[in-house]
Amino acid sequence: MTLDDKQIADEAVDLLAHLIRNECVNDGTPESGFESRSTDVLAQYLGDTGLDLERYEARPGRESLVARIEGSDPSAPSMLYMGHTDVVPVNVDGWQRDPFAGELVDGELWGRGAVDMLNLTATMAVAFRHLAKSGFTPRGTLIYLAVADEENLGTWGAEHLLNNERDAVYADFVITEAGGFQMPSSTGPKLPVIVGEKGSYWCRITVHGTPGHASQPFRTDNALVTAAEVVRRLADFRPPTHIHDTWRRFIEGVDFGPDWNAKLTDEATLHDFCEQLPIGLARQAHACTHTTFAPTIIHGGTKTNVIPDLVDVEVDIRTLPGQTSVDVEKMLADALGDLRAHVDVTPFDENPSTSSPADSPMWDAMARVSSKLVDDSALVPFLTVGATDARFFRRAGSIAYGFGLFSRKLGFDDYASMFHGNDERVDVDSLVLSTRLWDDLAHDMLG
Ligand SMILES: [Zn+2]
Repeated sequence: MTLDDKQIADEAVDLLAHLIRNECVNDGTPESGFESRSTDVLAQYLGDTGLDLERYEARPGRESLVARIEGSDPSAPSMLYMGHTDVVPVNVDGWQRDPFAGELVDGELWGRGAVDMLNLTATMAVAFRHLAKSGFTPRGTLIYLAVADEENLGTWGAEHLLNNERDAVYADFVITEAGGFQMPSSTGPKLPVIVGEKGSYWCRITVHGTPGHASQPFRTDNALVTAAEVVRRLADFRPPTHIHDTWRRFIEGVDFGPDWNAKLTDEATLHDFCEQLPIGLARQAHACTHTTFAPTIIHGGTKTNVIPDLVDVEVDIRTLPGQTSVDVEKMLADALGDLRAHVDVTPFDENPSTSSPADSPMWDAMARVSSKLVDDSALVPFLTVGATDARFFRRAGSIAYGFGLFSRKLGFDDYASMFHGNDERVDVDSLVLSTRLWDDLAHDMLG
């Protein structure tokens, strides 16, 4: 049984539109998301495959769905297709169309989640259903997981499942968002594969002072004034540039030309070169090669006429592969200088960076399959500065990548601006390409 492009397009568009209309908005509260609406839709869609579908509810409404095609050889590697079903909130004012209507307009399907990542969740399901109905009997097991709560911390989704239902979801190889948008180069399109994620170290810096009457500020110990200096030093701090292997292979693979390639991979000059780059690329290049420090919240003061004795500054710090809390604390000491002794640093969320090797049987299979679907293409490894559910699986021992395929219509800039942004939409050709990727990859990897 083969699927033609028209059939894939019809099924993928219909399923994706349903997932968008379910409006599984995750605002970070445990009561939000309500992904069970989309597990209902997916269970119905996969219901005629004859496979057992398992549903796991971490708390009311926060439900994930697992479907499996068991392999014939227990020693063969297994593979998981994982897509999340929740989406981030929208600001309706910024949209040209209803973000939850799932409208198909001129070959593009509009709506929150169209590229993050209901497109992949839907196309993985379309390919999985086709594989099951066509009697695919792989050596290694193929698992499909539609997972809740990716857009917050994974507490009610991937983390819950790995902690409580590991046998149901664990696989040797995992594929999830994101990547695969075509980056043009002189030797054909390069397709980024996310092989790692930066870590996070969120902390509270508590600045102490001495209370007093604000009518006599001279020579007072004002915690707010000290906090302002703490924030300024963090903003001015220049952590060392670190050109890691993933970054070097990405730059060399995409090939920005000899001059840019050299500047983008030189630890001595990259920071200054970032000052001259277009803003989007500059931020990416900087974040991929530096630990970043972003002060984001400040709380302090009690009354207009009281010198404050306590101010809290929250800082979002993002770490590179291999860095630990010891490295972060050293950098904070460098950044704050003599003020370090006058503040308390309390980390409240530590999440080390994770990565998988960019050489594996799955990498080779993705390269073989995608080069047939996108002419002259080649894979390049990439480090994402955000976080995805891949981190839980890497920590559990899986090799996990972020990948998918997009048509030439959807370039990196479009993709980056729509991710959590306004007017999110995906073209139908991209849905067809991704569906074919999942189908062909299952045959190549597990066949
Ligand atoms: Zn996502």
